[in-house]
Amino acid sequence: MAVSATVVVAGAGLAGLAAAWELSRAGANVALLDAERRPGGMVVTERPGGPGGPGGKDGFVVEGGPDGFLAAEPDIQDLARDAGIGGRLVDQLASGSSLWTGQRLEPLAEGQAAALLGIQIPSDVGAQHAAPPQFGFRSFATGMLDLVEALVARLAPVFRPAQGVTGLAPATRGWRLSLNGGSTVEAEAVILALPAWAAARLVAGAGVPAARHLDDVIYYPSTTVSLAYRGDQLAAAPAGTGFVSAAEWGESGAAVRACSYSWLKYPGRAPPGHALIRAFVGPVDGDPAAAAHAELAGILGIRGSPLWSRAFTWPRGLPRYKPGHAGHVAAVRERLTRLAPLAIAGAGFDGAGVSACVKSGREAARQILMRLDA
Ligand SMILES: Cc1cc2nc3c(=O)[nH]c(=O)nc-3n(C[C@H](O)[C@H](O)[C@H](O)COP(=O)(O)OP(=O)(O)OC[C@H]3O[C@@H](n4cnc5c(N)ncnc54)[C@H](O)[C@@H]3O)c2cc1C
Repeated sequence: MAVSATVVVAGAGLAGLAAAWELSRAGANVALLDAERRPGGMVVTERPGGPGGPGGKDGFVVEGGPDGFLAAEPDIQDLARDAGIGGRLVDQLASGSSLWTGQRLEPLAEGQAAALLGIQIPSDVGAQHAAPPQFGFRSFATGMLDLVEALVARLAPVFRPAQGVTGLAPATRGWRLSLNGGSTVEAEAVILALPAWAAARLVAGAGVPAARHLDDVIYYPSTTVSLAYRGDQLAAAPAGTGFVSAAEWGESGAAVRACSYSWLKYPGRAPPGHALIRAFVGPVDGDPAAAAHAELAGILGIRGSPLWSRAFTWPRGLPRYKPGHAGHVAAVRERLTRLAPLAIAGAGFDGAGVSACVKSGREAARQILMRLDA
């Protein structure tokens, strides 16, 4: 089967959704493909107590991937407003974080927790820290999925799930994409909003050998565990939004690298009288939820077992770039300007934060629209 679209966007994570949104708003004939059945990519929010959900979980909002973004980053918030859900943006409730020394929790200076976790804060954000409302983090009222749902509400007619792109080749007018299952799609223009390793292979195969360098991006594995408790299981409500552990990984045997007090960090993450904690867990033997609970019980003075737990494993989670990354990306983009309209977007190229991904996707769409207009 061969179908055609003016622009194919491959990848329905935030970058691909933002690109498809921008294109669709401009009136382009878009097809949005993803290898998975579910849109959103790394954005995974579960609201387990929804209609038909299992008992005991009503009113919890569980994030498996990103849970928020810096308030000073405008792109994701602008897209939310454009998509009509600006009213669902919520500010963090608590502020400050701690360092778990192995003995006690000690307050950390602002920004230190991110630095310890290796999270890059965009350089223009620091300058805005003097203005209080921009300070800190934001999210959405019922989780990061709010934005995905708002975008998909518009894009549903053009979203094609379970359509992994396996090949990309020049066609008479634009590009021909091969899909798993053997079908093909032809398009005048293509945006690859895919992880770097997937885009690298497709772009190199389409005649840009330098794109193989894009595969240098390292995606670190990660496991997050969300644990629910009754409020009275905690000795006292902890201060701040969470902690980072000072343990030396691989030697200490410690599992929890960092932890968010989700129910204190953003509104509406747990029903009244309950606590929801999210731990970032390193490699452990056995059940990561049991390992996380055992450590958190000691650190936060938790009595008894969690009401329930939910673990999300990301074999390829947050990307980190090697030196020279920006140069490789720029060189590939320069080479792409000499081919039929083809763009790359997303965390593998332009920054791992959700707002950077939105910006990357929208910019790719604008460039493609300009080229189609030329
Ligand atoms: C545990 C965790 C916590 C995080 N926390 C935060 C946070 O709090 N704040 C923040 O700003 N960022 C956070 N991040 C980072 C952020 O979530 C991601 O960088 C961002 O969501 C990536 O978006 P993307 O669209 O570039 O890629 P993805 O979300 O990875 O989307 C890529 C899409 O491409 C699809 N795909 C792959 N191969 C193919 C193919 N061949 N054909 C078609 N489709 C394909 C995938 O199925 C996927 O849907 C976190 C990440 C993780 C893993």
